[in-house]
Amino acid sequence: MTTMSNARRGLPLTSSRIEKIFPKLTPAQISRIAAHGHIRSVQSGEVLIEQGDTSTPLFAITSGEVEIVRPLRGQETLITVHGPGEFTGDVTTLSGRQSFARARATKPGEVIELDHQQMLGLVQTDAELGEILMRAFILRKAVLITAGVGDIVLIGSTYSADTLRIKEFLMRNGQPYSYIDLEHDPDVQNMLDSFHLAANEIPVVICRGQVVLRNPSKQEIADCLGFNESINQTQVRDLIIIGAGPSGLAAAVYGASEGLDVLVLETGSPGGQAGSSSRIENYLGFPTGISGQELASRAYLQAQKFGTDILIAKATRLICDSKPYIVELESGARIPARTIVIATGAEYRRPPCKNLSRFEGAGVYYGATFVESQLCSGEEVIVVGGGNSAGQAAVFLAETTKRVHILVRSAGLAESMSRYLIRRIEETATIVLRPYTEIIAVEGDDHLEFVRWHNNQTGQTEEHKIRHLFVMMGADPNTSWLDGCVALDKGFIKTGPDLSPDNLSAAGWPIMRQPYLLETSLPSVFAVGDVRGGNIKRVASAVGEGSIAISFVHKVLQE
Ligand SMILES: Cc1cc2nc3c(=O)[nH]c(=O)nc-3n(C[C@H](O)[C@H](O)[C@H](O)COP(=O)(O)OP(=O)(O)OC[C@H]3O[C@@H](n4cnc5c(N)ncnc54)[C@H](O)[C@@H]3O)c2cc1C
Repeated sequence: MTTMSNARRGLPLTSSRIEKIFPKLTPAQISRIAAHGHIRSVQSGEVLIEQGDTSTPLFAITSGEVEIVRPLRGQETLITVHGPGEFTGDVTTLSGRQSFARARATKPGEVIELDHQQMLGLVQTDAELGEILMRAFILRKAVLITAGVGDIVLIGSTYSADTLRIKEFLMRNGQPYSYIDLEHDPDVQNMLDSFHLAANEIPVVICRGQVVLRNPSKQEIADCLGFNESINQTQVRDLIIIGAGPSGLAAAVYGASEGLDVLVLETGSPGGQAGSSSRIENYLGFPTGISGQELASRAYLQAQKFGTDILIAKATRLICDSKPYIVELESGARIPARTIVIATGAEYRRPPCKNLSRFEGAGVYYGATFVESQLCSGEEVIVVGGGNSAGQAAVFLAETTKRVHILVRSAGLAESMSRYLIRRIEETATIVLRPYTEIIAVEGDDHLEFVRWHNNQTGQTEEHKIRHLFVMMGADPNTSWLDGCVALDKGFIKTGPDLSPDNLSAAGWPIMRQPYLLETSLPSVFAVGDVRGGNIKRVASAVGEGSIAISFVHKVLQE
């Protein structure tokens, strides 16, 4: 076992952070925790949480010590030691997902044990302790992510699109991991040899030092890490929400906090489109802006705090000919629900270049977050599109790149972009606006190397050695899986007053009342956010619709 350099902590932390990450509770706070759980004596060496356990309890230590270690390939790495007045746990304790660590008493003593439900009851009802616990959980996870301490190793390459895909999946799911880069890490060959891997098999994900996944899908990683293990997939839910973008997460927070039994299904990128936004500056309450990823991870935790179950899975069909309705997953599982909120958002549009998908993640990106900005620091980049997301990306990328070319098919930005962004673009010397211009070809080997663009006004075609292309051309709704269950308009879901008498009679609307606001042509099924026809494509409106939908969910549950 690794010995401690610092007698108390395994992770390098400054003392000011230690107080927030490992707060010492007062005797009064400890007795309030005790009211939610039970007191348990522990012996030295007794394991309280084993790696891989799901829905793990929370332990508050009243006497003795509990160490947290990460077991990996027969060895343990010390993460921390909790003493009297401290408590175990991080955000995994909240979600009920598999524990990546082992908790073991190192001295005889006494702890207060709260099972998963009791812990949720505590954070939901005791405002002061709820805040202390939530803050500590979030900071602990952040430290683990920064230190790369997790139970997963990713071996990849800076030039591989699939490596970027996996990194984003892990980051969006708050999963700490160690990263070994084929091009830059001197130990990579040893690592490959010890798992009998060839360089051309990367990206490779190694779970708990045992299971080796070669270029895995998001679902394979989720299964390997046991993301879905603690979640019941057969019980009839009050509400299933499909999609964990801002609208779905808002519906989850309001639904679960108001006592509904809520399950959220998400294909893999919690936070949706908003999660890929580098900086959201027009969301109420964040005067200096907030990164989409941060907003998404806060909302994700908030939903879990109120007891929402979040399943990393794709909904592939809605079975709507009898009640309860059934949502079918890619795995074949079928989950029944009394009410449904569809929050599946939209999919990015792409310029019609035949090679484009080859370079996705390897020079072609649909979001401009910190991860992408690091990849193109000091280089020239192209942003395609004239909407607000393109404008934000251009302004953000201009901070770290040599030059940003904005390509728009129209004459300018005035019609499609907010004034404040247009002004910032005009004031930034390194941003060049190219009107009437379209990408017509992308070329390269393993990575994008050259881009050709065409000016529709002058008829000129130019080739440039530019290695990074950000596509921000808007999106199409994710509704193909709905299998004709609800009325659509150009693929977007029609709701409430937008449903004409013809729509309702074609759908066989079976009840006396008219559809509620946000209700689709199928009773008790609602649509919110970008997937809904007529929606204003903004984070705030997605959040607003997700929250409003819950008041109608309560109404239909009482019918
Ligand atoms: C780069 C970028 C920057 C932006 N910046 C801003 C901004 O600054 N301010 C602003 O107000 N708006 C901004 N927007 C727009 C805003 O992000 C969207 O309006 C908002 O995210 C819509 O939320 P949503 O929940 O409706 O859908 P989405 O965000 O699209 O989320 C839908 C979710 O559903 C999941 N999903 C889809 N199909 C399935 C399925 N079959 N099964 C399970 N899950 C599924 C997806 O994986 C996704 O996570 C930006 C958008 C982008 C792309």
